[in-house]
Amino acid sequence: MTAAAPPPLQIRILPVTPLQQNCSLIWNEATKHAAFVDPGGDIEKLTGALEHFGLTLTRIWLTHGHFDHAGAAAELRERTGVAIEGPHRDDQFWLDQIEDGARRYGVNGLRDVTPDRYLEDSDVLEFGGARFDVAHTPGHTPGHVVIHNAALKIAFVGDVLFAGSIGRTDFPRGDHGQLIASITTKLWPLGDDVTFVPGHGPTSTFGRERQSNPFVADRLTGYAGAETQAADIAAQRTTKRYT
Ligand SMILES: [Zn+2]
Ligand SMILES: [Zn+2]
Repeated sequence: MTAAAPPPLQIRILPVTPLQQNCSLIWNEATKHAAFVDPGGDIEKLTGALEHFGLTLTRIWLTHGHFDHAGAAAELRERTGVAIEGPHRDDQFWLDQIEDGARRYGVNGLRDVTPDRYLEDSDVLEFGGARFDVAHTPGHTPGHVVIHNAALKIAFVGDVLFAGSIGRTDFPRGDHGQLIASITTKLWPLGDDVTFVPGHGPTSTFGRERQSNPFVADRLTGYAGAETQAADIAAQRTTKRYT
């Protein structure tokens, strides 16, 4: 028996909006079909990348409803006819205030959006001949999802986890304990060797974060053991700068 060769997927990270949100562009080198994860803004930069690589957009996926992740989705759908999948329905209240949120950061041109399909835990997405698994990971926002490809050992985790930090939970319906639980029960089991693309900043691996992340290292969470530490909201406001 021989395993099928993995599809020839390419990935580029395109930081968008003044918050430098990591929009991921994934494409199949053979078919030139492309997917965006979290097209948050700077739509000309996104369409320019499609043109540059000679790609046709066929998927738009959202991890959560914050404007820097979802703000260009409505216009992309309008221009390309591609349906929007994700996040979980519990983030619709965030998707309904994209314009307001963006304006508070001085960003114009982003739009509220209603997805064509809400995602649920254990949903499976197909793109480019590859399978992507969905996990519902509330805490930063109640409807946050993470998208994972087991063959490529890569996960798009939005604002759940960063290299050296975790998502803010001082928003309406944020929940620190729930975020820690999402990370330890939904992300860590995917494997230490999984590389993740966070919503902001550099990539890392789950294994590295289990060793050294100041919020969710195993010695703090007691992953496979002890208790989680209580949240310190004041500290979060000063040490976590991402939305
Ligand atoms: Zn963000
Ligand atoms: Zn966010």
